[in-house]
Amino acid sequence: LQIFWIAVVTGGNKGIGLEICRQLASNGVRVILTARDEKRGLEAVEKLKQSTLSDVIFHRLDVTDHSSIDSLSEFVKISFGKLDILVNNAAIGGVTIDAEILNSLKIESEKKTRSIVMDFLSNLQQNYEMAEECLKTNFYGTRDVTQALIPLLLSSNSGRIVNVSAKIAQFKANKSTEAKSSWRCFRKGDGQTEEKLLELSSSFLDDFRGGKLQCNGWPTTTSAYTVSKALVNSYTMILAQKYPSLCINCVNPGFVKTDMNWNIGIMTVEEGAKGPVMLALMDGPDRSGLFFDQIEESTI
Ligand code: NDP
Repeated sequence: LQIFWIAVVTGGNKGIGLEICRQLASNGVRVILTARDEKRGLEAVEKLKQSTLSDVIFHRLDVTDHSSIDSLSEFVKISFGKLDILVNNAAIGGVTIDAEILNSLKIESEKKTRSIVMDFLSNLQQNYEMAEECLKTNFYGTRDVTQALIPLLLSSNSGRIVNVSAKIAQFKANKSTEAKSSWRCFRKGDGQTEEKLLELSSSFLDDFRGGKLQCNGWPTTTSAYTVSKALVNSYTMILAQKYPSLCINCVNPGFVKTDMNWNIGIMTVEEGAKGPVMLALMDGPDRSGLFFDQIEESTI
């Protein structure tokens, strides 16, 4: 049991994040469950009280709001003087789906067929504002929270960061025509820097606005979500090189039944939280800068 460890989990009020909090707390970790909405966050902490060993503390955190990030890092600094685990879990899909299609997909999802994932993805819709919000939350939010908490993670003897990513953002999952030009730059080992990631993010949004996603080789299905998570993957590799004393990895939780996919996912939150929790508790820092597909190491 990791009784002296402190963890921050973003987006901890529901879904996979809530279950990550439960599993970490069940392993004796003192968890700071964060949520952007105070009421939803406090209700989540209440739910966990009955089923965990150690304390779960609530602190408000909207990952897109700098003052909220500063307030959290100040709280952790004053209360504990260090942070052992940061799980960047908060994210949005930034998409909509037609209600009738959703109903038929729900029936299909009961059969738990693998094709449900592709059927689901191919029916999602997104406009520019949604795309922008998606990058802001999933990539910039992750980056800003991480930047603020890194000094506290460096004060721990075993600091680790788990970035919850997605299989759809794995380069190998994006084939042929989708894997061209700028998109190719996301590959591990292509000399990425944080500045280049910011440039890629802006050029993606420019191409989205200009209707040039396809011709410039960006993924066209759930494009902003995919790009946001690919940015998170690359950012994970950059961070792992920059901070060799920390253990920093990213992980696809699997296609999990949560609000993000209107509960069409086929795995339970207990199954989905396994990979992130394994990485949060894994011995480091020799296994850092890696992408995991659930609990298995995979290639980015
Ligand atoms: P949910 O929609 O159930 O939960 C998302 C969480 O993120 C909620 O707590 C939500 O808070 C929070 N959140 C959203 N925006 C912000 C913000 N600006 N600041 C703080 N918190 C925010 O989704 P999942 O549990 O499914 O997703 C968890 C992670 O797993 C995400 O990173 C997702 O991309 C990833 N993932 C999920 C898959 C799946 O099949 N479910 C597949 C692949 C990856 P609120 O309740 O206030 O909206």
